[in-house]
Amino acid sequence: MSERIYDRVALIGLGLIASSMFWAIKRNAGIVGEVTGYARSEATRDTARRIGLCDRVCDSAAEAVEGADLVVLCVPVGAMGSVAAEIAPFLKPGCTVSDVGSVKRDVIQSVGPYLPEGVHFIPAHPLAGTEHSGPESGFAELFDNRWCLIVPVENTDPAAVTNLRAFWEALGANVDEMDADHHDLVLAVTSHTPHLIAYTMVGVADDLRRVTDSEVIKYSAAGFRDFTRIAASDPTMWRDVFLTNKDATLEILGRFTEELFALQRAIRTGDGEQLFDYFTRTRAIRRGIIEAGQDTAAPDFGRSHKSGS
Ligand code: NAP
Repeated sequence: MSERIYDRVALIGLGLIASSMFWAIKRNAGIVGEVTGYARSEATRDTARRIGLCDRVCDSAAEAVEGADLVVLCVPVGAMGSVAAEIAPFLKPGCTVSDVGSVKRDVIQSVGPYLPEGVHFIPAHPLAGTEHSGPESGFAELFDNRWCLIVPVENTDPAAVTNLRAFWEALGANVDEMDADHHDLVLAVTSHTPHLIAYTMVGVADDLRRVTDSEVIKYSAAGFRDFTRIAASDPTMWRDVFLTNKDATLEILGRFTEELFALQRAIRTGDGEQLFDYFTRTRAIRRGIIEAGQDTAAPDFGRSHKSGS
């Protein structure tokens, strides 16, 4: 039995991230006494009760946060402010409120003002996910060996940060601390802009009707297929990411466009050397990701190619 970190944890929003958190908590029995949960729709609450997601599923956010030592907001970034306003009057004095949102500056600005004095607000972001969403999409291993970035705001209580860090480590994650603006820029490079590019590429294929209907799907090769996986991600979550991480995404997109033009020009002028040098440099980045244990070196991301799979 692991050492107790929080007596009661409340998960608000019961989708991919919250459900994975719950199963990871259960895998490490003892770190939390009781997990309560709440989702805005009755359908999600019913599903949660059916599959045993959370020790207690509540019919209001107020009931879920009552007496909780840690409250984690697991809703789309654009909904964080209204959820904070809804729970604020019912928070236990001295509790910690955290979140898992993919953008941090906007969450700090939208949630912070609602939280009463004496409540510790410690934003966080687990860098782990899949293209699936909803209460049935979670699994206990999601955070294993992934990073969780904690983004402390001014005057954060160090003891509260230590507890949150221990909690995420118990869920399998490696924890680092980062400043909110830096977080948003890093994520614009590593996650947000790549998603936008994937959405665009799949959109372009869809526009080319003469190939889409059969050939794009039938002859789907690794490159395009991987784009379609990313482009299948939840539309609400990603709409909110781009609306709330506007500046950093536009900055990175500007740089991306410049590089794209340079490569376009190299192709037009037949500058093979430039293309070769560029692709050699990018290949080294892939090697770095594998060496850091953040992806598999198996061909085609370890997909099985046995017949019938
Ligand atoms: P999800 O599976 O789509 O679940 C979202 C949950 O939020 C659902 O329970 C939904 O309730 C609720 N919700 C949606 N809109 C709401 C609103 N306007 N007000 C109140 N509740 C609302 O989402 P997720 O993938 O777990 O993402 C949750 C958070 O984690 C997001 O902030 C996202 O940026 C962040 N995140 C996601 C990933 C990823 O890869 N998916 C990775 C890291 C962080 P109903 O079910 O009742 O509709």
